[in-house]
Amino acid sequence: MLTSIVGINWGDEGKGRMVDLLSEDYDIVVRYQGGNNAGHTVINEKGKFILNLLPSGILRENVVNVMGNGMVIDLKHLVGEMQKLTDAGIKITPENLKISEKAVICMPYNVLQDGLEEQRLKDKKFGSTLRGIAPIYGDKYLKKAFRMGELKNFDILKESLYGIVEWKNLLIAGGYKHEAIKAEEMIAYLEEYGGKLKDFVIDTSVYLDEAAKAGKKIMFEAQLGALRDIDFGIYPYTSSSSTISAYAPIGAGIPNHKLDNAIGIMKAYSTCVGEGPFTAEYFGEKAEALRQAGGEYGAATGRPRRVGPFDVVASKYGIRMQGATEIALTKLDVLTGLDEIEICSAYELDGKVIDEFPFTDVLDKCKPVFIKMKGWKEDISSCRKKEDLPKAAVDYIEYIEKATGCKITYVSVGASREQYVKM
Ligand code: GDP
Ligand code: MG
Repeated sequence: MLTSIVGINWGDEGKGRMVDLLSEDYDIVVRYQGGNNAGHTVINEKGKFILNLLPSGILRENVVNVMGNGMVIDLKHLVGEMQKLTDAGIKITPENLKISEKAVICMPYNVLQDGLEEQRLKDKKFGSTLRGIAPIYGDKYLKKAFRMGELKNFDILKESLYGIVEWKNLLIAGGYKHEAIKAEEMIAYLEEYGGKLKDFVIDTSVYLDEAAKAGKKIMFEAQLGALRDIDFGIYPYTSSSSTISAYAPIGAGIPNHKLDNAIGIMKAYSTCVGEGPFTAEYFGEKAEALRQAGGEYGAATGRPRRVGPFDVVASKYGIRMQGATEIALTKLDVLTGLDEIEICSAYELDGKVIDEFPFTDVLDKCKPVFIKMKGWKEDISSCRKKEDLPKAAVDYIEYIEKATGCKITYVSVGASREQYVKM
């Protein structure tokens, strides 16, 4: 059984908590793209954890976690994240954590480059998480990146490092006029942090292929959502990797296997971090109330998230791009207490109503069309069955299900592991 857990919207839909919940029935969880710009919050009996690089299955003792070749890994950050979990009593060994030898190393100069570019852009900045993600994916495709497997052949790595640092300084020192990067410092960095990680590095492709053939249950955990996908998202306000489900077997290292299902994680309202078009956005008091109710501040960056009502057009597109076979609708409890709940049911473009998600430039010109549904006042955070939910909440879920054309199988009503309803 190969299952992906993917974001339908702009990210922060609650993928981490759903992976934590559903991984109970899985043998392996694989992160297949992105880096430490992710922030997956998990709350269970062990405590509250924010995972940036580690797969969210790391909190379950019987689950093996894999960091796939599609990822970009900041070594120092990973060492720190592992230490935090170890301090909290979570055991991490090469038995339950395996890192692909083909995963790319996000270097300190990539982080520097990210910051220098955002500074240069000033008010035109992209709202980067400043973790070096775009620069390192750029380096990967320019074939100037190091991969985790190289940590095992340090002498060879060292040789190529001088050339790469020289090349990078053409930009850092030559272009941005920043102090040049020193090769010796980079070597010391790789030795220190790479040394702590190299025992976790294996050919995860062989490991996963054998596991899949032996009938093991494998879950693929995405970072961000469909609307931040490098190809299908709101480019250029996207991430730099492929966040979609179809990429999961590739980013995990087993393109010879097909997914059996894709569980789309979709929020009961909309949030978005960073710049770019966000058609149904709320402003002012209305926005602040929703942001407060949902605790919408970035897990990786602490930035206040932009908020709005549920967006049918964007979500329907997200579901199609993810090939979602079912949906987990998250954070429904946040909408409790409203007299009426708005939904963005369509967009208006030059006086015409459209329901297909348009190209980025066109999206900028779209205006939201809102409908209103009846709200509910009852606290739903302890509901565990569909019958426990107020009628207005069920109507809301069913409207969304019908409007987006995908079956909703889970609804979450609180951040803790057990706070969900199986529909
Ligand atoms: P991810 O990036 O998709 O894993 O999502 P994040 O962890 O960045 O953001 C989701 C936030 O909502 C986290 O703070 C979660 O603890 C919280 N959360 C998840 N599910 C629920 C829910 O059903 N209700 C409430 N109130 N909070 C939730
Ligand atoms: Mg997040």
